[in-house]
Amino acid sequence: MQYAVIPVTPFQQNCTVLWQPQSLRGAIIDPGGDLPRIERFLSDKGIELEKILLTHGHLDHAGAAAELAERHGVPVEGPHVGDKFWLDMIPQQAQMFGFTGRAVLPDRWLAQGDEVTVGGETLEVRHCPGHTPGHVIFFHRADRIAQVGDVLFAGSIGRTDFPGGNHAQLLTSIREQLWPLGDEVTFIPGHGPRSTLGHERRHNPFVAANYR
Ligand SMILES: [Zn+2]
Ligand SMILES: [Zn+2]
Repeated sequence: MQYAVIPVTPFQQNCTVLWQPQSLRGAIIDPGGDLPRIERFLSDKGIELEKILLTHGHLDHAGAAAELAERHGVPVEGPHVGDKFWLDMIPQQAQMFGFTGRAVLPDRWLAQGDEVTVGGETLEVRHCPGHTPGHVIFFHRADRIAQVGDVLFAGSIGRTDFPGGNHAQLLTSIREQLWPLGDEVTFIPGHGPRSTLGHERRHNPFVAANYR
């Protein structure tokens, strides 16, 4: 799989384009906003959008999903239904932060152990609550890449001070759902630079103390 990261919204959210290089069929993970830049990338590369994937319901991740889905006639898959209240709240959140966003009702809610396909390739779904109750991550086992949204960052972890956030649960998600994917897995976080799970497992101060 090939991928590219397009930081979107004032929150510099890592909107990720993931595509199969032969068929040029792909998915957008977390189109939070800045649709013209996302659209330009797709047309420059000649990528045919197959679906939209959402890690969680926050505005900067899901704010442009409804409009992108409508324009391309593609389904929205994810997050877990536990984030429905966040997806419903997008318009109010957008108003609060002074940018645009529409509520979105996914065509498919995802759960632990589900699989989604992109360009004929399979991504594994893990439910990782803590930052939000319905947060999921996407893992492409063959290429050892994961898109983990706001669960884990290079040198940090997701905030848990929002409604439905839970710090202990987030640490459990990281330990039980991310570490087993393998130290060599490269992950794309929701914000900031990429890292590997192994590097974070050893050096990330927010999780290293909880690692046994
Ligand atoms: Zn978030
Ligand atoms: Zn975020």
